[in-house]
Amino acid sequence: MLTFEEARQAVIREVTRLTKSAPRTTESIALSEALGRVVAQEIRADRAYPPFDRSVRDGFAVRAVDADAGAKLPCIGELKAGDEPKISVEARTCVQIMTGAALPPGADAVVMIEQTRVKGATIEILRTAAIGQHIVPRGREAAEGELLLGVRSRLGFAEIAVAAQVGAVRLQVFRKPRVAILSTGDEVVSAETTPGDFQIRNSNAFSLAAQVALAGGEPVVLINAKDTEGDLRAKIAQGLKEDMLILSGGVSAGKYDLVEKVLRDLGAEFFFDAVAIRPGKPTVFGVCGGKPVFGLPGNPISTMVAFELFVVPAVQLLSGGEARPLAFLEAHLGEALHEKTGLAHFLPARLEWADGVAKVSALKWQGSGDLAAVAKCNCFLFVPQERGEFAIGQSVSVLARRDIL
Ligand code: AMP
Ligand code: MG
Repeated sequence: MLTFEEARQAVIREVTRLTKSAPRTTESIALSEALGRVVAQEIRADRAYPPFDRSVRDGFAVRAVDADAGAKLPCIGELKAGDEPKISVEARTCVQIMTGAALPPGADAVVMIEQTRVKGATIEILRTAAIGQHIVPRGREAAEGELLLGVRSRLGFAEIAVAAQVGAVRLQVFRKPRVAILSTGDEVVSAETTPGDFQIRNSNAFSLAAQVALAGGEPVVLINAKDTEGDLRAKIAQGLKEDMLILSGGVSAGKYDLVEKVLRDLGAEFFFDAVAIRPGKPTVFGVCGGKPVFGLPGNPISTMVAFELFVVPAVQLLSGGEARPLAFLEAHLGEALHEKTGLAHFLPARLEWADGVAKVSALKWQGSGDLAAVAKCNCFLFVPQERGEFAIGQSVSVLARRDIL
């Protein structure tokens, strides 16, 4: 059985191989719609940044040679952000300057207002100035034409600001991969209906669609499949028309767990059908007709955890981007832990910060079907496969929930 790292690597390797043989198509979109998209073009500085020597403090532009502590300099003018610096700083004078304004000719330092005493038009310097202080010289952040975001960069809020700064208000991005979601199970009914006494509503179709969207894909939710070979085969074939297929349920060892068999009959090649994790152990990954296919165990928390570990990198790669590392954080245990060894655990847990320390505690839960518990967690506490005993206060890793932490 593979460890979760080995299983992740297998996904990354196989999906990378698939993306190499079928390059993604691109589309042009408005920057305002671009959050989470992956750019298919370079974004370069359209001019030097900053475009002029910029003051980064409110204060006085001076010649450093004139501005020793105790110097008293007449203020001969004022420059605010946006002004052309027509006035120059002559010897033993200063010019009032605001944050974001261009440095006037002659000046080589800015003394922040907090380090001066203003008496009418005379400015007393309280701390000796050094050449260049509180100035970002023209081009220091980026030279004209410099690459700011390469092809395959993902646009988060900071990258969107960079694109806006250089005027890239329309962008060429990779098309989102269409990800088919196929839940299975005779007991599963649509969330819009009232279930019979022994039926359950389809929560996985919704959580999977949310996870696909968050990872950068476009969810395509299919109608739940019955636990029969015929229905599974027809719906899997439908799902394989999209860029990728995710199934939930039907991958365990039960008599009606037929997903793997049907995929095999359809010619799937499998890279793993179990991973040493709990929840999520019976996760299946293969390629069928050139499309990545995942069979995730149907228990809702197993589905979620397996998606985060194995499906996210596949969606990221199909989105044109890179497989980003898992968002592991370090925290101190709020309570001792006793878990069986042999499988790595991902326990629903709550991470809090108090007095500068990150503290994590596992939540009480009834196992991988306990949706009420998982809705209270903001992370999954990672318990390594080879060690299950941890004392209170010990340092552990937690996997952040990408949607709320
Ligand atoms: P399975 O992996 O098919 O054996 O299902 C494991 C458990 O998850 C069973 O209790 C199922 O009823 C439940 N389950 C399966 N599919 C879903 C779904 N789409 N939504 C919510 N629960 C599900
Ligand atoms: Mg089932």
